[in-house]
Amino acid sequence: MIKIAKPDQHPEIFYSIQGEGKNLGQPSIFVRTSLCNLHCRWCDTDYTWNWKGTRFTHDKDQEPGYKKFDKKEVIAEMSVAEVAELVRQFPCKNVVLTGGEPMIQQEQLVELMEMLGPDYWFEIETNGTLRPTVEFDALIHQYNVSPKLANSNNPPQLRERPKVYRYFAANPKAVFKFVLTQRSELEEVLSLVNKYEIPPERVYLMPEGTAAAELAAKQTWLVEVCKAEGFHFTSRLHVWIYGDKRGV
Ligand code: SF4
Repeated sequence: MIKIAKPDQHPEIFYSIQGEGKNLGQPSIFVRTSLCNLHCRWCDTDYTWNWKGTRFTHDKDQEPGYKKFDKKEVIAEMSVAEVAELVRQFPCKNVVLTGGEPMIQQEQLVELMEMLGPDYWFEIETNGTLRPTVEFDALIHQYNVSPKLANSNNPPQLRERPKVYRYFAANPKAVFKFVLTQRSELEEVLSLVNKYEIPPERVYLMPEGTAAAELAAKQTWLVEVCKAEGFHFTSRLHVWIYGDKRGV
């Protein structure tokens, strides 16, 4: 069985366009899994994991320990065949495995990729803390690794896993996406890129924000950084088109 996010009574499997990174603009089917091993303070999909009362900037009026989501309400336990059936209903062969942290369920995702078969293209959005198995790596076409910075409020020993970062830095299928909330975080990004010898052509910088105005305020200086360092710039296309609406 595979745990799929169910924020509004329906499993979050939908057809849209990839809004970020290397394949920005590409029509894609999104499969959002539940569960995450990190707790980023600005997470916008915390219904995939926040049933223990983690506080956020946007929940600052709440007391610690309040129950934000009921696990039973927001997780759909589905067979791999049921997930594959929902994926096949869309006229598209590009699948984005996202979360949460989908690598937690990589065994089930291997089954899903095998079931859908070689006509499909698979990419995965991951926080880069869990190393793929050989079986998983053989089936996936692209890793979108998004290392979490100090701004996420996760302890360094949880968010930075040196062996896993090195694995992805050496794997040509992996691109790295760093989300910046402000200019001062650049030093941390450059230090990670140097420390793990991530090729600059596989680095994407993206502004943090769930509203177009927030993105616009950051993009000018981020573009200049990309020009100087040989990185790619990526925006969040779905925010420009849909705002913070979900499942589109
Ligand atoms: S790693 Fe991703 S899903 Fe997990 S808490 Fe951070 S932003 Fe949310």
